Amino acid sequence: MSADSNQTRRVYFDHNATTPVRSEVVEAMLPYFRERFGNASSIHFFGQENRDALDRSRESTAALIGADPEEVIFTSGGTESDNLAIRGAVRARRRLGGSSHIVTSDIEHPAVLKTCRDLEGEGCRISYIPCEGSGVVRLDLLDKALTPDTALVSIMLANNETGVIQPIKEISALARSRGVTVHTDAVQGAGKIPVDVGELGVDLLSISAHKFYGPKGVGALYVRRGTPLEPVYTGGSHECGLRPGTENVPGIVGLGEAARIAKKELGREMKHIGGLRDRLERGALERVGDVIVAGGAAPRVPNTSSLVVARIEGEAITLRLSMLGFAISSGSACASGANEPSYVLIALGLDPAIAQGGIRISLGAFNTVDEVDAFLGSFPKVVARLRELSPLK
Ligand SMILES: *Cc1c(COP(=O)(O)O)cnc(C)c1O
Repeated sequence: MSADSNQTRRVYFDHNATTPVRSEVVEAMLPYFRERFGNASSIHFFGQENRDALDRSRESTAALIGADPEEVIFTSGGTESDNLAIRGAVRARRRLGGSSHIVTSDIEHPAVLKTCRDLEGEGCRISYIPCEGSGVVRLDLLDKALTPDTALVSIMLANNETGVIQPIKEISALARSRGVTVHTDAVQGAGKIPVDVGELGVDLLSISAHKFYGPKGVGALYVRRGTPLEPVYTGGSHECGLRPGTENVPGIVGLGEAARIAKKELGREMKHIGGLRDRLERGALERVGDVIVAGGAAPRVPNTSSLVVARIEGEAITLRLSMLGFAISSGSACASGANEPSYVLIALGLDPAIAQGGIRISLGAFNTVDEVDAFLGSFPKVVARLRELSPLK
């Protein structure tokens, strides 16, 4: 290993994958694993103290997104919220005698994209809207795609790879004037930028606790009053019958506490994290040639930097930086084992060979200037070394 090797450094720059759980959140959860272990459906005091905890979490979760508590359904996370929103809305429309055309985009998270593909196999028609080179979904094409048989529009609030914020308010206006239900996956928005369901004008909105310093395996779906929605699972009458199953009370308490703190700290954290991100991007562009910031010209959440480094592979950069104690992510989808370029970067119009060089740096509340500067010290060396070795000239 080079002299720059550092076995003890552990710098976490991968907050769009998951975040550390705040210690206040862990503390709030602990009693619900221990003495307050009851079932929230029980009418005795063990049940009641759990029911009260659910109510409080529902209030703080609702407050984070400008919803009423009765409009919040707890789920097992972003993936389930997206599935419930899309499958549930389509089912409800079909039952009402409507059809099942869905409008979504090319850059959605797999929880949305693969759900839509699955429904395509069940006879739904899906329109996948492309985006501009900036990373913003083509509003003109979205408008054209809406037809009298459109049941649902599902477009994410902020993209997990580029951080680009989508014009959800405008999309909702287009869809709702035609009576189309609107869902947004706000998993990368909640806790990073102000999110208000009234302002966005959406009917359904997904969030996930582990993306804003809460525990994994818990999230919520906002369901505007009166939105036609059917459950995906069958069982008890929990969560208004929309999500049966004994509630994950410790997890939900963690979600509620994470939401409460996220709302309180939002302004300060946006400023801190945005400052670090700008410093990192400026430094990286100054010190390394042939690098672009994907989505850099569009409105973005303040923590995400999608860098595309010419002539080398993002995965190689990520692995080398990992050896040096920096945790980032490469844009490539390695699900197949093959090193394929990110479909999001391809959707932005990047040449697949260039898109191979995609890396994602996603900062968080506990990152520091020193960490960014240490990264800026190592990153140019890593790129230079890999370019030396690279056959892609
Ligand atoms: C992480 C993520 C999800 C999935 O959330 P889980 O809670 O991990 O299931 C969905 N959408 C986006 C945009 C995400 O970043």
